[in-house]
Amino acid sequence: MTIKITIDGKEIEAQENSTVLSVAREHGIHVPTLCYHKDLTPSGNCRICVVEVKNSRFLQAACTTSVADGMLIETHSERVVRSRKMTLELMLANHPQDCLVCDASGSCELQDLSYDYHVEVPAWGTRGTRYQADSDPNPFVRVDFNKCILCRRCMLACAEIQVRNVWGIAYRGFDERIIAGADTTMLEARCESCGQCVAYCPTGALTDKMSYGQGRAHQVQKVTTTCTYCGVGCQLDLNVKDGKILHVTSNPNAPVNGMALCVKGRYGYDFVHHPDRLTRPQVRKYLLDGKPKSREGKNWDWVEVDWDTALNLAARKLVETRNASGGGSIGVLTSAKCLNEENYLMNKLARQVIGTNNIDHCARL
Ligand code: SF4
Ligand code: SF4
Ligand code: SF4
Repeated sequence: MTIKITIDGKEIEAQENSTVLSVAREHGIHVPTLCYHKDLTPSGNCRICVVEVKNSRFLQAACTTSVADGMLIETHSERVVRSRKMTLELMLANHPQDCLVCDASGSCELQDLSYDYHVEVPAWGTRGTRYQADSDPNPFVRVDFNKCILCRRCMLACAEIQVRNVWGIAYRGFDERIIAGADTTMLEARCESCGQCVAYCPTGALTDKMSYGQGRAHQVQKVTTTCTYCGVGCQLDLNVKDGKILHVTSNPNAPVNGMALCVKGRYGYDFVHHPDRLTRPQVRKYLLDGKPKSREGKNWDWVEVDWDTALNLAARKLVETRNASGGGSIGVLTSAKCLNEENYLMNKLARQVIGTNNIDHCARL
């Protein structure tokens, strides 16, 4: 059912049961958030998105409050802004002032909000560093709970997207903190190192261990590409600095996978710069010499050549074989690690150019 509400003096038609936040965003009205993420169940715990609803005694969390007919909502009244500032101050009172050396600086939502609301460390001081940094032996995820704002996005991402339920919350008051399992290591708590919790963490509490200290958001160029591992075809962003892939981040607009990636897609990129990796084609020496194949001497050795030489040789051999024995004597194997478009082209090459229906795919092997 359609109802009428007013946000910041603007009359809006909204669907019943929508939240204040979703209606505001649909109409281009900015309401800041920290614990909220569109992929996760709203928990309403950080209190940054509070708004003033006329005749309501308390400020309401926009992410969990449903709209009702005739509601009058203010998203940036003096009372709202004062509350957001106080909430941010309380967070900073329990947070190290490490932005200068923090990997998350430049992509940290707490840093951005503190800047937007002109909030500084409260005059009455901070609790500072309380936990050991890099406190978990997980090889991919770096944990620093000094920078945790208890938003619970890691818990929800792990439970709702990865369905591993590694993270929980324990203790109370200033001692409240995120724990893995029953306060064990992440791996002992069934973590499969997918990095979803890192992708959803709004601060530097969870970061990528392999690239820690090597480059921050403004120092890298993001290159959107398709994962090279399996046939799902997840999209991801390579974070490149000085021609080197530093780490992989989720691309929120990825059509297949959204923010989700597996451990291979997110952390298995180091093969790209491995010194053993072949980056140029190689052919057997006897093929270059035009001599009969022999395992004797150097005849069988691999020789590095340019792409034109390698492709011309392959094309010549395919033509020779087809002319001598027919297209049916040739078989083509493609790969799940290629794009759909590349597999389509191989299909065309096999059936229409070579003249064989012998084409198969590694996913069936
Ligand atoms: S997590 Fe954010 S606010 Fe905290 S030190 Fe890092 S950049 Fe600064
Ligand atoms: S890395 Fe994946 S499985 Fe492990 S805690 Fe984070 S979200 Fe859960
Ligand atoms: S570790 Fe990150 S995502 Fe998890 S509660 Fe802390 S700040 Fe939020």
